[in-house]
Amino acid sequence: MSERVHKNSSYLNAKSTVGTQTRVKDVSPTSGMCPICIRDCPFLCEVGLSTFRGREALYPEPIQFGASTAGALKDFRLDWSDFNIQASLFEVHGIKADSDLALFHNVNVESKVAGIPLKIPIATGAFGSTEVARVNWEGLAVGAALSGVIITIGENVCGMDTESVITGGKVTYSKELKRRIDTFRKFWDGKHGEVVVQTNVEDQRLGVDMYAISKLEANVIERKWGQGAKAIGGEVRIRDLQKAILLKKRGYIVIPDPEDKTVQQAFKEGVFTSFERHSRVGMPTEKGFLEDIDWLRSQGAKHVILKTGAYRPSAVAFTMKLASEAKVEAVTFDGAGGGTGMSPVPMMDEMSTPTVYLEAQVLKCAEILRKKGRFVPDILMAGGFIKETQMFKAMAMSNFGKGPYVKGVLMARSPLLSVMKSSYFVELAKEGKLPRTFAERYGTVPDKFFISAPELKAEYKERFKEIPWEAIGLYTYLNERIKVGLMQLMAGARKWKLNLIDRNDLVSLTERAAKVTGIQLVEDSEADAIEKILD
Ligand code: SF4
Repeated sequence: MSERVHKNSSYLNAKSTVGTQTRVKDVSPTSGMCPICIRDCPFLCEVGLSTFRGREALYPEPIQFGASTAGALKDFRLDWSDFNIQASLFEVHGIKADSDLALFHNVNVESKVAGIPLKIPIATGAFGSTEVARVNWEGLAVGAALSGVIITIGENVCGMDTESVITGGKVTYSKELKRRIDTFRKFWDGKHGEVVVQTNVEDQRLGVDMYAISKLEANVIERKWGQGAKAIGGEVRIRDLQKAILLKKRGYIVIPDPEDKTVQQAFKEGVFTSFERHSRVGMPTEKGFLEDIDWLRSQGAKHVILKTGAYRPSAVAFTMKLASEAKVEAVTFDGAGGGTGMSPVPMMDEMSTPTVYLEAQVLKCAEILRKKGRFVPDILMAGGFIKETQMFKAMAMSNFGKGPYVKGVLMARSPLLSVMKSSYFVELAKEGKLPRTFAERYGTVPDKFFISAPELKAEYKERFKEIPWEAIGLYTYLNERIKVGLMQLMAGARKWKLNLIDRNDLVSLTERAAKVTGIQLVEDSEADAIEKILD
């Protein structure tokens, strides 16, 4: 048995996501249990925790909800590390073949998704009603605006807003949705990036789309069919009994029933400390979807896009067929292995199609549509993206010669990490409690340890004071790390424009990677070039 398989099997009965561990490390590869399971064991493995907490053991540690994100830890046997980027020497594309010009600083990484120009090929989100999104919104939204990328407000924001005004079953005011849009626009240059309002079944019932378009002047509406981390609707924890009752009254599914007297008693006694709020799943039909997209446009939506999860291949094909017919401008496919504010851990690890396999299916559909002369929407890939190397590979793989289908990637957990890290370290700096090595290396004040601070001060002058440090952290990550890293990779491949990177820039490192994606193995790449050049 390979090391890889053995490692995954041990996760059967202990996962850091759930906060469980086994008494011994050499567990059974089949069950994940300790080979000798003893009565006097003080450890909480998966079965042990489930014994006390039941359904709570399905989720990332409930105590961390609101201050964390969670993702899959399973090795899906194929990921972006199974490919390498080919470096070039003699060719130069997209710039004059002049050593004084062909510098990585001159690489252009601008992209366009659904007609929206992006300074970096990134969309962030969707950050919905989950607590971690609400708490960190300012940093996320301002950081996205400064970076010229898309940010998506996720599902259920109006429904979860206790200050929402709902008249005749439709939302007519939501302080929280307004705050989210306004915060982005405060530092938006009016051209690059956008704030997208995502709507699921619950949002559509509440008329969130109409409210966002007509009252908040939202330009982009995203329909949501699913996400890679789970194939059931969005879920959040509610730690307040009255709020749980309010949400039940608004039509949400709340578990356990907050109006049940026994449940209320158990909650008051501390038997459990949070309710689960679930959303319904959509049941898309061809006719319904086409009519819906037409209706959204007639209501004034300037751009209509779609976000879906990592469903089976027939669902991928169905999605691409409908998106093409409805001329939805962009579709985000979210692969398994990504993450969320709250999803069942077994679903994140064991269900749905992982990102690279999913992209291969999407590309097959895109090529069929293109060859038939049909409309192909822009594609955004999501599911575990944190770095420029993954982005390069995802976009290059999608260019069969007519430009990349994948116009950018969607990131959620890493922008949140960046914002949370900024927030925590600024707090530590105020308290004089920064880790010693960090303080010695980078300084003790945010003006110094955020390397982008001087540049942003010069650009925004008086307004700099209005930019939260969390946004500066996100800007630094996206602009100073990912963008620069991507420029370096592209210059190494001798491609100075994003639409020039293609499948020939990649090689597969494993047979599986080559089989799934059609990207040649290293040993097969340019196989006849050596003879041709030297004979
Ligand atoms: S209860 Fe049994 S399987 Fe679980 S950690 Fe203890 S010894 Fe191992």
